[in-house]
Amino acid sequence: MCAAARNTPFLETSPWLVAPQDRQPALAEDRSADIVIVGGGYTGLSAALSLRDAGADVALLEADFCGFGASGRNAGHLTPTIGKDLPTTLRLFGRPRAAALVRFADAAVEYAEEVIAKHGIACDYTASGNLVAGVHPKHERSLVRAAEAAASLGAQVRYIAPAEMRERGLPPAFLCGVLEERGGTLDPGRYVSGLRAAVLRSGVRVYEDTRVTQLEDGAQVVARGAGGSIRADCAVIATNAYTHALGRRRRHVVPLRVSLFETEPLAAGVLEALGWHGREGVYTAHEVLENYRITAHGTLTGGSKVVRYRYASGFAPGGDPAAFAAIERAFRERFPMLRDLPVAHFWGGWIGLTLDVLPQFGVEGSHANVHFGVGFNGHGIAQGTLMGAMLAQRILGRLHPHAAALERSLRAWPLEPVRWLGSQLINGGLALIDARTDRQVRRLAGRGGGRSRA
Ligand SMILES: Cc1cc2nc3c(=O)[nH]c(=O)nc-3n(C[C@H](O)[C@H](O)[C@H](O)COP(=O)(O)OP(=O)(O)OC[C@H]3O[C@@H](n4cnc5c(N)ncnc54)[C@H](O)[C@@H]3O)c2cc1C
Repeated sequence: MCAAARNTPFLETSPWLVAPQDRQPALAEDRSADIVIVGGGYTGLSAALSLRDAGADVALLEADFCGFGASGRNAGHLTPTIGKDLPTTLRLFGRPRAAALVRFADAAVEYAEEVIAKHGIACDYTASGNLVAGVHPKHERSLVRAAEAAASLGAQVRYIAPAEMRERGLPPAFLCGVLEERGGTLDPGRYVSGLRAAVLRSGVRVYEDTRVTQLEDGAQVVARGAGGSIRADCAVIATNAYTHALGRRRRHVVPLRVSLFETEPLAAGVLEALGWHGREGVYTAHEVLENYRITAHGTLTGGSKVVRYRYASGFAPGGDPAAFAAIERAFRERFPMLRDLPVAHFWGGWIGLTLDVLPQFGVEGSHANVHFGVGFNGHGIAQGTLMGAMLAQRILGRLHPHAAALERSLRAWPLEPVRWLGSQLINGGLALIDARTDRQVRRLAGRGGGRSRA
């Protein structure tokens, strides 16, 4: 492990987020509402806003403070990425469904942009687009294919050849790419805090420090916490990667841990010399991607690369030093010109993974009144926000135009220990492929090749 990763501070939440000054009191009595929402991330907060807009009496219960989950910890790429990748989605689901999924993902980005504008959320959103970057010449073919598949499905993406990459000033490690023209980057903490403020202004009753320990089915659903309960006509499960701990969707959404880092601010001259004037968010074309972006305060954040599944969907508290070392090493290799720039801190969070890498939107319970919108597979900034609106529409008895895109038979993960063994095998296999790619990239860099072929 590199020394820097060992000594650099680990943040329990993330640098984007501080606990709110106006933390809402925990639920301490038995109350009722029209609708009870469990979880205060993008999905739950967005559902709350839409339901309140329609005049419903809404109670939202959050185990910690709103934004404490992935919504306050992510990398901030507002992206229309959907599924594993579009060629795979096309193969698995066929053209009409794949095209509908692309429309869903595009609409999600648009909807999040509308929400940001409507509520005046100052979250440093830059509509720069995001770019899937090849780091080895062999990525060129698959990226051209991915861009063709995406364009044929109506996605607003295009292949960026090496010459244009250099014209755009993208760092030289990124050889070619597929640019998602919709979306960009934002400050995820300011976005979720802005949603929370809008929800509070709207008159939704928010109870923080209220972990739901039991969600009882019935003609009326009862959500129970340690100090009280909410009885409601229906419930919304908006707990994404944490859902299994609620005793729901255990076999459908599993938590994977992802780690990120942030550097110290780049000096103005260094930032200028780096180029990258378009500030596109970047994810690499690895099997398990690396992501990088410049923040509004002139730091660089990045990471991913290593994802971890723990036996029986367990959550390990604390940091992941091996992952931190791996993401710092990757950063140093992609940005050799920033070798002296210190990493300021590392942190991590959990994404909710589904077997077909698509979000799950549905309803369950003995009285079909427990609605769920979970499993964003690391793409939930936009999709969680739209999911909130879709959940609200379903509860109000309306058909959301993008609901059909997500309708399918929802596939379950195998039981333990097969699940854990499978995850080790798949993760190990993907890590080997990526390690081989990285070795090849290093060899090419050593020979002075593969950096800027036009
Ligand atoms: C490291 C990392 C990087 C990511 N990068 C990106 C990215 O760049 N772009 C992108 O689109 N997506 C990204 N994601 C994914 C994105 O953050 C999530 O998909 C999204 O935040 C999910 O929102 P949510 O509201 O559904 O869930 P969450 O934000 O996780 O919210 C769920 C909430 O439920 C609460 N909760 C859990 N259990 C209970 C309970 N029993 N009772 C009450 N409350 C409960 C939790 O405390 C939490 O606040 C990333 C995720 C991680 C972890």
